[in-house]
Amino acid sequence: MKHYILFGPPGAGKGTHAGAIAAKYNLKHVSTGELLRNEIAEGTELGKMAKSLIEAGNLVPDYVVEGMIEHLFLTTKGVAGFLLDGFPRTLRQAEDLDRILAERGEKVNAVISIMISDKTIHARLKHRATIEGRADDANEDTINNRIETYHRQTEPLITYYKGAGKYLEAPGEDGVEAVREHLFDLFNGLDSTYTKQQVVIDDALYRKLEEEARDTPRLRMNYDLRNGENDGSQRMLNVWLPGSKLVVHRHQNTNETILVLKGRMDVILYNDDGHETERYHMGGDSGIHGINVTKGCWHTVEALDMTITFTAKSGAWATNAPEDILEVKD
Ligand code: AMP
Repeated sequence: MKHYILFGPPGAGKGTHAGAIAAKYNLKHVSTGELLRNEIAEGTELGKMAKSLIEAGNLVPDYVVEGMIEHLFLTTKGVAGFLLDGFPRTLRQAEDLDRILAERGEKVNAVISIMISDKTIHARLKHRATIEGRADDANEDTINNRIETYHRQTEPLITYYKGAGKYLEAPGEDGVEAVREHLFDLFNGLDSTYTKQQVVIDDALYRKLEEEARDTPRLRMNYDLRNGENDGSQRMLNVWLPGSKLVVHRHQNTNETILVLKGRMDVILYNDDGHETERYHMGGDSGIHGINVTKGCWHTVEALDMTITFTAKSGAWATNAPEDILEVKD
């Protein structure tokens, strides 16, 4: 699981952008502020305790938000990771988060910060009060206290995460579209940061990828080996779990090289009528280690074990056009 922190003062736009980022990267968006507001709305004990603190612009105790976060880490399935919004907010929370993740063999992958001035925070919260009616945006004293609380308790996290080499920042004063573009640039860059360092393809990497593939609903995942987002080639490791379904498809402009590095899979070829013509059992002790599927040839794969392949194609990746997907006949 990946763990990204969307950081910034109140009113920076974390809530505005979190949904789109989470959807694009298959992350679970967790806003501790939102969770607390739900508790208040439902009138729970926790909500009753948090209400007066929130309405005064103070933070709720660390253990309260940490409890909520830990619960979500334990119960959330089917995502590539978490996008934490509004957490951590104190050094203690940041240290506890590191500990909680370390116990799970995970870590904070990156902190992406949206930065705005105090003047903009003030103006945005006042404006938001007229739209969303949040009690903690309405009152001048509360706004000032939240700004002060941010500087005193939350801002020191910037130094903490800079020290860990995990801090990235987008200017947040521009329009929504410009800020979003900047954030996507930062996230896209992160996705390919591993390609900027040496990647040793060893058992430890296999284990990490296998774990990630198990957590995905598609039962497969790929690990990009390109230079970056704008690299127009396709070079990747793929992890396939038995049961993962890949449509029968073709690539009209490129051969596809598939090498089985670990596990066993069938590569199946079809004619234009949708009938299976050849099936190559690859990996294990089959004596077949890979295949170069010729351009235009209909094909799919079926994993027999947890299987890891290396795949290379020419040109940039694109979704299969409808005419490049074949309906199969038995
Ligand atoms: P937000 O929606 O993130 O602006 O959060 C609204 C309020 O919820 C904050 O002003 C705090 O009172 C409380 N809150 C949210 N997240 C945290 C946190 N990580 N630690 C402590 N209090 C929090």
